[in-house]
Amino acid sequence: MATVPTTASAIAEAVASGRVTAREVLEQHLAAIDAREGEIHAFNLVTAEIARARADGIDADVRAGRPVGPLAGVPVAVKDNLCTRGVETTCSSQILRGWKPPYDATVITRLHGAGAVIVGKTNLDEFAMGSSTENSAFGATRNPLDTSRVPGGSSGGSAAAVAAGFSPVSLGSDTGGSIRQPAAMCGIVGVKPTYGTVSRFGLVAYASSLDQIGPFAVTVDDAALLTEVISGRDANDSTSIPAPPMSLRASVGAGVAGMRIGRVTDLPGGAEPEVEAALEAAFASLRAAGAEIVDVRLPSLSYALTAYYLIAPAEASSNLARFDGVRDGLRVGAADTNAMYGATRAAGFGDEVQRRIMLGTYALSAGYYDAYYGKALKVRRLIADDFARAYSEVDAILTPTSPVVAFRFGEKADDPMSMYLCDIYTIPTNLAGHPAMSVPFGTGAHGMPVGIQVLAPALGEQAMFRVGGALEASAGGAA
Ligand code: GLN
Repeated sequence: MATVPTTASAIAEAVASGRVTAREVLEQHLAAIDAREGEIHAFNLVTAEIARARADGIDADVRAGRPVGPLAGVPVAVKDNLCTRGVETTCSSQILRGWKPPYDATVITRLHGAGAVIVGKTNLDEFAMGSSTENSAFGATRNPLDTSRVPGGSSGGSAAAVAAGFSPVSLGSDTGGSIRQPAAMCGIVGVKPTYGTVSRFGLVAYASSLDQIGPFAVTVDDAALLTEVISGRDANDSTSIPAPPMSLRASVGAGVAGMRIGRVTDLPGGAEPEVEAALEAAFASLRAAGAEIVDVRLPSLSYALTAYYLIAPAEASSNLARFDGVRDGLRVGAADTNAMYGATRAAGFGDEVQRRIMLGTYALSAGYYDAYYGKALKVRRLIADDFARAYSEVDAILTPTSPVVAFRFGEKADDPMSMYLCDIYTIPTNLAGHPAMSVPFGTGAHGMPVGIQVLAPALGEQAMFRVGGALEASAGGAA
């Protein structure tokens, strides 16, 4: 069998030129899945036969000289909250078990259009609510770097799939950090694009004003490639920005000479010392590469977590009202319709989802709306204002992605607050709608990887990828 390259871009080139077949690429990745999936549990479903048929189709196109896309023959794992036509989409919830959507999410259509081969649906915290993938109704995913530890979450399956070599790239969704935080914990790259640049059509909604789909990859260049493929206007998403797909790959190697990079002087504390040290090393490497480090203040950031845990549950309580046992998924029979709703939702939703629905319903209820939800929206505005002030002085901002490296199973599962604190650095960007990415940089406690987060203003992806590329280059040099 011909040697299969490791990056998505190199695979696509090799397949397009006929040096390897899409089928060979796929079989190699399916063999990797066979070897380790029993231990990792990255997937809810591996769609090997559908993938084989698609790979053979790509190879037929190559043989016939028909044009193939920028992801020709690239295996991609997708989070199981992205709708795939005729293929079970569960959100790792009992309530959706067995549901086969009648349509594809726009990102799935775009992957197919680019020649990608979808290999399966990855595990997540139920309805993307969580930071460790322990909230899945189908069992936790293990971190491929240390299987006694969590992969992060909620897109833990997508992160683990890439870290384990099951696919070179994958897709996740990020409402408060669910791409960046597991990327950091699994030692790979994860990107949350600007709100509105990637269509949410066919993403099962958690908190619609915060949700955004994005890629996981081993390299910053592959993350840029995937973001290019999935971005761009979609008439099926009313919040989609009327702009063509982004152009990002050229920025990755452009360097940071002359860029101004923000250091947040009033960042809420609590990061592990090794994480703080990695952040300092990241600043030093960017300075050495010609960037200027500028102090900025983001005083409202300390309220971000509280605001998020009102806004996200409020939106979730409304979005999840549709899972009622009437049309699709689980139904638990009872004497009348109301009792059926109650019994279905009590049996179908796990503890964390029920907690969020109750929190959100409370925050939106008459008499509390202004005090909780209304106030949280005001904090959201203050955070956006803080960022706007900072970005008048800097091109990008650097923080840790997560205050902690990957923790052990059960370590935080019984304490929702300590789990919520994992997202303290990722949540502000979602509230502002800005892009952010996590790049592996150095090693923390227990030999686990640390992720450094690059933040940029809305539509500032090119600046973000310049910084991400520079961090990757110097992290590689240091290792
Ligand atoms: N961990 C956060 C939460 O539980 C973020 C999840 C996400 O981004 N989907 O809500």
